[in-house]
Amino acid sequence: MKKVRTRYAPSPTGFLHIGGARTALFSYLFAKHYNGDFIVRIEDTDVARNVEGGEKSQLDNLKWLGIIPDESPINPNNKYGKYRQSEKLERYLELVNKLLNENKAYKAYDTSEELLLQKKEQENRGIFSFRYDRNWLKISDEEKQRREINKQYSIRLALPENREYKWDDIVRGEISVNSNDIGDWVILKSDGYPTYNFAVVIDDYDMKISHVLRGEEHITNTPKQLAIYEAFGWEAPKFGHLTIITNMEGKKLSKRDNSVKQFIEDYKNEGYIPEAIFNFLTLLGWTSEDALEIMDHQTIIKKFDENRLSKSPSKFDIKKMEWFSKQYMKNLSNSTIISKLNSIKDEKWLNLFVDTYKQNATTFTELKENLKIYENIETQTEIKIENIDLIRIFKKHLLAHEFTIEGIQSAIDNTKVETNLSGKNLFLPIRVATTFKEHGPELAKSIYLFGKEIVEQRLNLWK
Ligand code: GLU
Repeated sequence: MKKVRTRYAPSPTGFLHIGGARTALFSYLFAKHYNGDFIVRIEDTDVARNVEGGEKSQLDNLKWLGIIPDESPINPNNKYGKYRQSEKLERYLELVNKLLNENKAYKAYDTSEELLLQKKEQENRGIFSFRYDRNWLKISDEEKQRREINKQYSIRLALPENREYKWDDIVRGEISVNSNDIGDWVILKSDGYPTYNFAVVIDDYDMKISHVLRGEEHITNTPKQLAIYEAFGWEAPKFGHLTIITNMEGKKLSKRDNSVKQFIEDYKNEGYIPEAIFNFLTLLGWTSEDALEIMDHQTIIKKFDENRLSKSPSKFDIKKMEWFSKQYMKNLSNSTIISKLNSIKDEKWLNLFVDTYKQNATTFTELKENLKIYENIETQTEIKIENIDLIRIFKKHLLAHEFTIEGIQSAIDNTKVETNLSGKNLFLPIRVATTFKEHGPELAKSIYLFGKEIVEQRLNLWK
């Protein structure tokens, strides 16, 4: 088998999005499963849409997720050319000229008004996907010369008539499109920049890409790209088009929908565990044969099987993502978590804190928030307690025991017996009185972590 080489080719027009991250991830898993290379390169020829920091966000966030490319703009292998399209313009021009010389492409002198007219005229006939009708042939030679001087032309591919462009899609099986349904399309725009469909083929060819996995919105581009491979006599890679990701209502995720956090950066800033997101994203359109869900990086690579890529849309379920994050948090070692907390508390205390709080935490940020209640000690609370008697009874029992987790637990148990209260009626007032919080993990441990002095001071407030 030919060396597997896959790629992720974002445009730096925005930050790394869930959809992009999933495309990158599946391309990465595919390559790694077959001991191949995974490449990241940048499609930055749509200059007006590029955003400052777009490329860096893509690369940094992929790295944070653990998707490390073998080659990228910051780690190129020169034998495959440049990894940013803006640095390859000469290469594209050279190949455009080759097609021109072989009469496989031609200069089209239409103005945008003429094209618009053509489009309208087609729409009147009920054709809504525009097909260029070789209008330029109708333009007089004199006029062509005038436009040539003013560089008012684009270059279009001369498609063969009635040719079937077929491929065996990795996700969807055989797809076939007739060239008559495409029309000669622009490969070089009048501003001298190549179009996406042309440049992407050159890049995939130059980089010896063997398999292309990308979003289903690219299905209509694939026959156009196959026509370029054919024009040059190059072998095309295999293609697979991943299904869309939807929100919980089944609508395609839109970057403008603020109800779902869609950028990897958001998860990073909120202190999610990258390994958990990596694992979660893996299951957005893929399942393991044994239906396992929680899997580490190496297991996923080993089990990845392109034949199990889903043919139906995948729902982005934030609840499930949080569940994943919780499972990962529970399984992280205390020392790993402690290293993220930047606390000055001593090791023993921190270990107990982490043991107590990691059972139910989703993010590092949440843990840090919990840590704050022990680091910045508040001296009063606004929260009211109805049953002050209960607090007095608890205090009596607490003072009668040693200040240990077991001692605190016995004090709670004694209070239960004496007051005949249980559940929320027992725990909530004790929790509020000692921790100044209405929610938290195991009560005795939460109290113990404050230390004897603070707990007694607080109990004295309830009179
Ligand atoms: N820049 C394109 C995109 O972001 C890449 C498409 C492709 O993978 O061919 O959708």
